[in-house]
Amino acid sequence: MASERSKKRRSASQERRLITAALPYTNNVPHLGNLAGSHFPADVFARYCRLAGYDTVFVGGTDEHGTATEITAQKYGITPKQLCDFFYKVHKKIYEWFEISYDNFSRTSRPIHHKLTKEFFLKVYKNGYFIEKELNLPFCNSCHRQLSDRFIEGTCPYCGYEGARGDQCEHCGKLLDPEDLKNPYCAVCGSKDIIFKKTKHLFLDLKKLSPKLEKWIKSSKAWRPQVKSMALSWIKDGLKPRCITRDLKWGVKVPIKGYEDKVFYVWFDAPLGYISSTKEWNVRKWKQFWQKKGTKIYNFIGKDNVPFHTIFFPAMLMANGEYNLPYNVVGLQYLNYERTKFSKSKGIGVFCENLPDAGLSPDYWRFYLSFIIPETKDTEFLWSDFKDRINNELVGNIGNFVNRTLSFVYKKFDLKVPKAQLKQKDKKFIADINKQVKAVINSFEAVELRAAIEGILKLSDMGNKYFQENEPWKDEESAKRVVFVCTNLCRVVGLLMQPFIPSSSKKLLKMLNAKDKDWSKLLSFTIKPGHKIAKPELLFQKIDDIQINELKKKTSKVTQYFESVKVKTDKPAAPKSDNSKEEVKNMKSDIPKPNYVTLDDFNKIDLRVGKVIKAEPHPKNDRLFVLLVDLGEGEHDIQIVAGLGQYYNLADMVGKNIVVVRNLKPALIAGVESNGMLLAAVYKNEVTLLTVDKEIHPGAKIE
Ligand code: ZN
Ligand code: ZN
Repeated sequence: MASERSKKRRSASQERRLITAALPYTNNVPHLGNLAGSHFPADVFARYCRLAGYDTVFVGGTDEHGTATEITAQKYGITPKQLCDFFYKVHKKIYEWFEISYDNFSRTSRPIHHKLTKEFFLKVYKNGYFIEKELNLPFCNSCHRQLSDRFIEGTCPYCGYEGARGDQCEHCGKLLDPEDLKNPYCAVCGSKDIIFKKTKHLFLDLKKLSPKLEKWIKSSKAWRPQVKSMALSWIKDGLKPRCITRDLKWGVKVPIKGYEDKVFYVWFDAPLGYISSTKEWNVRKWKQFWQKKGTKIYNFIGKDNVPFHTIFFPAMLMANGEYNLPYNVVGLQYLNYERTKFSKSKGIGVFCENLPDAGLSPDYWRFYLSFIIPETKDTEFLWSDFKDRINNELVGNIGNFVNRTLSFVYKKFDLKVPKAQLKQKDKKFIADINKQVKAVINSFEAVELRAAIEGILKLSDMGNKYFQENEPWKDEESAKRVVFVCTNLCRVVGLLMQPFIPSSSKKLLKMLNAKDKDWSKLLSFTIKPGHKIAKPELLFQKIDDIQINELKKKTSKVTQYFESVKVKTDKPAAPKSDNSKEEVKNMKSDIPKPNYVTLDDFNKIDLRVGKVIKAEPHPKNDRLFVLLVDLGEGEHDIQIVAGLGQYYNLADMVGKNIVVVRNLKPALIAGVESNGMLLAAVYKNEVTLLTVDKEIHPGAKIE
């Protein structure tokens, strides 16, 4: 047994493992579902690999290029760089707080990434895997930009749905090209002034790579069945050449003649971020992980990212020829919130930027998330379940076992583990423990992390029962046996819990005076008679309903990082429809669930009638008006910036009696101060101002 173990350890120390978590976009901030769907399971697995003795590196970073970044920046009136600089810090802080143990967390906007992407591309170019084709792509004359497939909308040629996107109609599910859309309009600004421009583009020849890809996917042993069958179905449908260039400014420049005005399409450069992040981590060692044979690469990603990581990215790596392919693409499903979707705009969910101030240490969140990692199907974050898991499992099972054992050593043996005469049944119990420990390790190794945590809970449950059945309080001999066995089991549980709840495990191992740095002695009882432990302290606290309510309130808070320069809607809806059936259907799906407020809440809003006395165009943005509004005697006239440019003539504004939110926090909108908000009714792309029925004195209160 011992020789087999040491042999295993030797080979383990030689194996290199590279773990990656999906690179988050920097146009918003992660919610708990984002953590559960990649960063957290990747972290648990990386921590496991380090402890199990593999040569491990865990990298990530932010994916900063692409139209989405440009458009979000435009919405806030800042540059893409400013936006990314800001959100990179927010992301990094969150992952650090959550103890995601990245060895490096980089950015795709860094020079090291741009350089690597260009070099990578040139090798694929030299190898002959690109095709040049002319593309007819939409260009918005109002925004002055090429519109990517997702930012052009119009009527679906197949089913007539009016909000179909340029890549797909979400109503009938048909894949589309932007040119297929009828009545196309820009999804950013709503303009119908769209022209199609013909320019040269580069395509990765996926068709040529398809047989090699298929063979590789079929031969992979570690993938989960649903990931593998998803990848094979893409192959079966037939792979088409895929465009890798775009007419944008924000991105990695294409380094060949004739492409000076183009950047790489974000899907091409983003996954290369894993490589550049590894290179940034260690300029000497990165090649061992990416280019030396025998490295196991694990990509942790959400299900929407599966095609990219099972088809496109491996195809790029194959076309380049110098890199290792992923060993396991760990495709995760989604975490939902209270049987609905996380939604920042509706304030539904747990938003990570609130966690540090919510009053609970990361291990409580990590512990609960461990049970709901969406490994094989979508899972639910439920507050009632959160409370139960913490109170019954963390406190009631693990905490109870550790506490009763260590308190007993403290009270009965003055912190010193006694010499015990083990009976046959104790030896049987120890054998059972070892069997269970091996089962837990097998679960970790298979990236079945939920099974791993359940397996650890089973160990402490076995400990609790053993303690109870052997009644150590009855006689000295039983006390010695139980203390010896249970103290050692506490150490095993502490070691095994490290990937899930690192801080608490560390605390427990410190209390035990266990010096282990890894799992090499996991199967031995290293706490010998005479070993002295530290004075025990409670590891975990129960949570009550009052706390749960507090947490709910604090973690669902929506942080407005920037003021949007578009006042009314984030996204203009489809032009008015004549199709009444479709209309009704759309309206139904638009009706939000009631979100009750109290009268007190409502009374906080100071609504007044105001008379517009002056109207001027906004100096920077022609969709905005700057209005001066009279609010009656004793009040200064206030300035309001309103997004009415598309709906009203400036000249028609003066003299209107409008409804104003008097006490809205002042804000800068595209550089101009706004001291209130006017109310308007919005339906699709129609906007009409709220006014009063009869003439009334300015400043009249609305109640
Ligand atoms: Zn536009
Ligand atoms: Zn359709």
